[in-house]
Amino acid sequence: MSTTSRPSLLIRPEKDTFLNEENPFEAMMSRFDYAAERLSLDPGLYKVLRSPEKQIIVSVPIHRDSGEVEVFTGYRVLYNTSRGPAKGGIRFDMQVTLDEVKALAAWMTWKCAVVNIPFGGAKGGVVCDPPNLSLAELERITRRYTSAIIETLGPDSDVPAPDVNTNERMMAWIMDTYSMHKRHTVTAVVTGKPIEMGGSQGRREATGRGCMLVTREALKTLGLPIRDTRVAVQGFGNVGSIAAQLMEELGLTVVAVSDKSGGIYNPKGLRIKEVQQHVRQHRFLSEYKEADHIPNEQVLTLDCDVLVPAALENVITSKNARDVKARIICEGANGPTTANADRILEEKGVFVIPDILANAGGVTVSYFEWVQDRGGYFWDEDTVNQRLERIMVQSFDEVVAMANKHSVNTRVGAYMQAIERVAAVHRLRGMYA
Ligand code: NAD
Repeated sequence: MSTTSRPSLLIRPEKDTFLNEENPFEAMMSRFDYAAERLSLDPGLYKVLRSPEKQIIVSVPIHRDSGEVEVFTGYRVLYNTSRGPAKGGIRFDMQVTLDEVKALAAWMTWKCAVVNIPFGGAKGGVVCDPPNLSLAELERITRRYTSAIIETLGPDSDVPAPDVNTNERMMAWIMDTYSMHKRHTVTAVVTGKPIEMGGSQGRREATGRGCMLVTREALKTLGLPIRDTRVAVQGFGNVGSIAAQLMEELGLTVVAVSDKSGGIYNPKGLRIKEVQQHVRQHRFLSEYKEADHIPNEQVLTLDCDVLVPAALENVITSKNARDVKARIICEGANGPTTANADRILEEKGVFVIPDILANAGGVTVSYFEWVQDRGGYFWDEDTVNQRLERIMVQSFDEVVAMANKHSVNTRVGAYMQAIERVAAVHRLRGMYA
């Protein structure tokens, strides 16, 4: 087998570099602390919600294509399963650490609770460098990691999904490995699968669609018209390009988008389908001819009404928050805004739709995938989209109501909503001893 064969669908190698100047997960937990304090959370329950339920570290030995044996380290953390099976992606990356996986698993717990889907939070990862591994090596890592954590996995206990550098191909291998052990096909053990083997219609577009829906609701809340509303989107991958497309279809004017090669700008509005076509053919925006080119940081401070950071964490910081002109920020990415920037945006009166709400469309349709797999009955795309819309709109309303009730910003409101839901189940279930 060749060491040079590479997976054709490897995704997102460039993003999510953690533990840089401001650790977004520490920032997330500090927001959790603040929300818990505002809720006067019982100190005992606070301790429970601050601690991951289960942390697994495994060795993942495989034969490299050269015949040499290599041993990788894998993690799976189940943060909280009081509301249902643990749900969360698996990432393959050199930056993976147990602390990072723990924090991401906590994040998933709050995200599932904000949209009120019956899942707890989990995350997993293997410390490896996918660009330097062949497809066959990645398959061996995926299958060995799956078998190492197999006692935890299962439709009723722990349901992984794709994350950084993992994709539907790997989800297919996880499903197959698990099913071979169980001696029957178990599609609901993992989500983000190919449609042919139990994936859901609408999953690919779900995160961007969720962004469009909550932005529409924010415009309504602020009494701003759809017409003449200008949008700038940072990141033109899965989330950013679909959000831009659906916002344009809604009637908004998308004036700028960017990717890691730079930004493009047209004050009269870009034609998003043409831009998508260009990226399909040429990969990057840098050669796009029908618009002006701008540095990608400028997209964040452009004269516009809605800003959608949909690329990386920590991009809106104390350094540029004062220059943000948008009235609404819809956080398509995880952790794009630092805690310091939050304070500045609040002073400026910017309406932030926080990540744990704004990008929860993805996990919501993952939930639909799990439901469809368990029921063995598959929905058409319209049904998926209608049900997603109902959940996103209701969750948005609940977060705004919580923020108004406690006179806090929408981010704190979202955390309060999540913590209240997880805490309520803990109180009802009581403490098993
Ligand atoms: P992706 O890899 O498909 O796209 C990322 C995009 O960001 C690419 O266009 C890339 O060129 C661009 N980018 C990278 N560096 C940039 C920079 N410095 N400036 C501007 N653009 C830059 O990834 P994705 O799936 O769209 O995920 C984007 C973000 O959304 C991540 O934070 C991810 O964790 C989060 N998210 C994704 C999903 C999902 O369903 N895909 C769900 C929830 C959250």
